[in-house]
Amino acid sequence: MIIAIDGPAGAGKGTLGLALAKCLGLRHLDTGGLYRATALQILRAGGDPNDPETAERAARALDEGVLGSPDLRRPDVGTAASVVAAIPAVRQALLDFQRAFANTPPGAVVDGRDIGTVVLPDAPVKLYVTASAEERARRRHKELLERGEASIYQRVRAEIEARDARDAGRAVAPMRKADDAVEIDTTDLDPEQVLARALAAIDART
Ligand code: C5P
Repeated sequence: MIIAIDGPAGAGKGTLGLALAKCLGLRHLDTGGLYRATALQILRAGGDPNDPETAERAARALDEGVLGSPDLRRPDVGTAASVVAAIPAVRQALLDFQRAFANTPPGAVVDGRDIGTVVLPDAPVKLYVTASAEERARRRHKELLERGEASIYQRVRAEIEARDARDAGRAVAPMRKADDAVEIDTTDLDPEQVLARALAAIDART
């Protein structure tokens, strides 16, 4: 069983992915974490995320230890992640790991931007999880404040919108809803309601 979840930042993909994996006894892969870890390694080494060679080297040398770092959630790391994610060699370097993870029994819930379109185009269930930019920024802002970090709503919103534009506008594997994906708009839903919609969509497809 493989479930592909795509959608923009802050739409609730991660929360849904974890809940679905728990409910269905599957493993969960947050592929954004791979791009974030690549970016964080570059930033820590004082490198430039825009440089294709630096970025490809970091993606190929991904340190599993970095995948658990709380620094991955930093807004500047999210922005740098979307910069390295636009570099084709970086995406290529991370592709095999994602496919191997998904194809290991008993299967997986994999979330990202290009899972249903590029990474796992044959996934039997594809979900596209979205929400208004206003609501997604509100959630991220709240999350940062709860972690005790300084946050300004307008800045969070501007960062989210810039990241959406970069992710949807890049030439390689842009963020987009697969033709056969079921869309769930989470703007006015709580996590339990989102999970219920996703389970209904999975039932209908399997
Ligand atoms: O989902 P998250 O916000 O952690 O992703 C960080 C960035 O990684 C995204 O803005 C996007 O540029 C990139 N990404 C991607 N493809 C994926 C997952 C994430 O390009 N499958």
